[in-house]
Amino acid sequence: SRVARLDRFISVQTGINRKHVRLMLAQGRIQVDGVRATDIQQPVGEFSQVLLDGQVLQANTPRYLMLHKPVGVVSATRDDEHRTVIDLLQADYRHSLHIAGRLDLNSSGLLLLTNDGRWSRGLSAPDSGVSKKYRVTLANPITEEYIQAFADGMYFGYEDITTRPAGLRILDERVAEVTLTEGRYHQIKRMFGRFRNPVLALHRCAIGPLVLDPDLLPGQSRELTPAQVQSVR
Ligand code: URA
Repeated sequence: SRVARLDRFISVQTGINRKHVRLMLAQGRIQVDGVRATDIQQPVGEFSQVLLDGQVLQANTPRYLMLHKPVGVVSATRDDEHRTVIDLLQADYRHSLHIAGRLDLNSSGLLLLTNDGRWSRGLSAPDSGVSKKYRVTLANPITEEYIQAFADGMYFGYEDITTRPAGLRILDERVAEVTLTEGRYHQIKRMFGRFRNPVLALHRCAIGPLVLDPDLLPGQSRELTPAQVQSVR
């Protein structure tokens, strides 16, 4: 998250020079998050509220959305060819959002959007350990040997890594639930590719404790509850 020193922040926001800002501070005219500021070097967080003479200089609101991503919409904020997930949102703040963990163009399901960079990094960092659950539909039958291969991990030569142990549950002859704790490029398609079994559909059901709301139709979104936001910190 972006952090600025208090005097610099006020100076940039108002055009008042820093020397004068120091005077205003001594006069007790500056508040940060409801508390009278006393230290000009105090850091101002991205979502801090700064008041000068009771007037709001910054009141960024942290936003957290879950979206049911439809197939054929791209997980990006801009794209020349396809509709993006941002185009699906109604909120006036949609252009301030970024995606916490992308899905492929032809994948569907739970996508999280936020303007809180610290929160999204905690979720989507490769070593965050947050589990992601997918329902995968395959062209050919799935056999028991897949379970061990997913648990053992697979070596990806291009990245020179071995995938972390992944969970695989067979739900139906051609449907599996896969649980990953990382997100390599096209990871699930490549893992089933080892068995020459093409993925026909890929749907993300959950990210950590956050489960896609069954009331959301493809393309619909809603804000997370405060408890949901906290649950993945
Ligand atoms: N694995 C894939 O191959 N695609 C996704 O969208 C997510 C995981």
